[in-house]
Amino acid sequence: MLARLLLLSCLLLSSLCCRAAALELREGQGPLRLAGQLEYLIPQQPLDVSDVARATGWRSGQGSALNLGRQAGPVWVRLALFNASQTDDWQLEVDWPVLDRVELRLYDPQRQQWGAPMVAGDHLPLSQWPLPARQPTFPLQLPAQELRWVYLQVQSSESLLLPIQLLSARDRAQQELQQSILLALFFGAMLAILLYNASLYLFTRKPDYIWYNLYLIGVVVYELCLSGFGPFYLWPELGRTGGLIYAGSAIWSFLAATLFIRTFLRIPRYGGWPLWFSNGLLAYWGLALIVVLINPRWLSVMGLNLMALLSCLLGLAIGFSLWRRGNQSAPLFMLAWLSLIVFTFIHVAAIEGLLPVNILTLRIQTLGFFTEFILLSVALADRINRERAARIEAQQALLEERESSLAAQRGINEELDRRVHERTEALQQAREELEEANAELLRLSFTDSLTRLSNRRHVEAQLALLDGGHLSVLMLDIDYFKRINDSYGHPFGDRCIAAVGEVLRDQVRRNGDLAARYGGEEFIVLLRGCPLEAALMIAERIRGQVEHLVLEFEGQPVPLTISLGVAHGRGDQDRIRELIAAADAALYQAKQEGRNRVAVAG
Ligand code: GH3
Ligand code: MG
Ligand code: MG
Repeated sequence: MLARLLLLSCLLLSSLCCRAAALELREGQGPLRLAGQLEYLIPQQPLDVSDVARATGWRSGQGSALNLGRQAGPVWVRLALFNASQTDDWQLEVDWPVLDRVELRLYDPQRQQWGAPMVAGDHLPLSQWPLPARQPTFPLQLPAQELRWVYLQVQSSESLLLPIQLLSARDRAQQELQQSILLALFFGAMLAILLYNASLYLFTRKPDYIWYNLYLIGVVVYELCLSGFGPFYLWPELGRTGGLIYAGSAIWSFLAATLFIRTFLRIPRYGGWPLWFSNGLLAYWGLALIVVLINPRWLSVMGLNLMALLSCLLGLAIGFSLWRRGNQSAPLFMLAWLSLIVFTFIHVAAIEGLLPVNILTLRIQTLGFFTEFILLSVALADRINRERAARIEAQQALLEERESSLAAQRGINEELDRRVHERTEALQQAREELEEANAELLRLSFTDSLTRLSNRRHVEAQLALLDGGHLSVLMLDIDYFKRINDSYGHPFGDRCIAAVGEVLRDQVRRNGDLAARYGGEEFIVLLRGCPLEAALMIAERIRGQVEHLVLEFEGQPVPLTISLGVAHGRGDQDRIRELIAAADAALYQAKQEGRNRVAVAG
């Protein structure tokens, strides 16, 4: 009996405690973030609403937001409220728009009555929600000075993050306005970055911009889901299909980011483990995207969260490795990537209870994306600049090389010209020398070396040129020359021949006349256009001059005379031989008549 009494009093106490633990809503109460005041239940099997109130195993929340992680089935969350104010337009907001389904019911413990269920979540069309809002929001009809239990049944294929707020309709409207402006600013900025980089693609045609923009589009869609802007403004009636956009856009973002990093950092060019990991991530995210389209339920076994974390860390590691291998794009990329990771880390730390959950820690990843895309955009521009500078440098080098080779070519040409010129001059000189030598040779071949008069060959050549005009021919021969040779020797005989030659050169000077050594001590003189009388005079003058020559042998004077035969006639080709023969005959006659005289051909 005593035991029963004790148990009863305990029960009474516990109900009193429960009453005392109810959250009191006072007049003018500002927005309340709920966590510690919440109790949650993760049932082993699905529970009906009538079972839930009696169920055991409820646990208290901690920190500034509930995070129940991934749960296969629905979880329950409850809260006792005592409305100590006069207003009854309180609203409960679950500031995590990607939850699949949230059902809220009020329970009146006094009358043991359940209120009508209200449902919201991104798997339901907006028209079925109790209030049109970005995130599941429920109006609470809380009569003044009464206690009510709020029961929430939450279900989601993603992490069950429950940042629950309790606030008046007026406060919520004001908060919504502030957040909407900030979010609109973010989306506007992202749109501007997208347009800017899309236009840069049109100008540069660099594939980096394609992946950058696709990555950015993925992130924008992801943020549209996460902020609730997408389902609220863009696809309010899609319901369950709309809920897939969240997972799809997240996977798409990772896939496009992997492709962007691969292109931007030129990973295939570097090869090695970065390429292997890049290939692996591409395959994984590509597969995940296909799975989302075919059957999103299979995603739960793919370890998305782990792979997301791995992708982020690998991005950093690859960036660092390529940086050490001289990739100049890597430092800015790492800064961008790191900024996203740091902001995301803050967000995750808040969700995990390490930091308080508030509007800043809930939305800081958005800021991370914004910073990342700005930095990546700068990195892209920086790389384009560096590439252009390198191109200009290469062109400059090429130009210089071409110029120097042109200069070398010019030098070679000049050298060639100079050599050709030299050779031509040398050739010209050689030709002139040859001509001179030839002329000299010709002259020598026509000249008698002893007397330096023409020789017989020259006479013959001259005879071939005769034109048929008057011609006198003188043949002359030294008298008793044999005797001179015999008496004084051949050298003295030569001196005599040379002396006679000297006389002839002296006497035969007229242009066109020719005196020549005809052979031995015999000479011939051709006088063109010369009448016989004049020829006789010349012959006589020659004879006289020879007669008066003073030639000495060993101090003794040696007399020297010549005999001459003169013939005159027409000097043409047919008759010249006769004329010479006639002159020769006249010479013979002069010899016969006693020598040292002139005889005329009869
Ligand atoms: P004639 O008065 O009849 O002419 O008598 P000759 O002695 O002059 O007659 P001949 O014509 O028989 O003699 C010519 C000589 O001249 C024979 C030869 O030895 C000599 N003789 C020919 N050519 C040269 C030469 O170039 N130098 C010298 N020293 N003697 C020559
Ligand atoms: Mg003779
Ligand atoms: Mg003689």
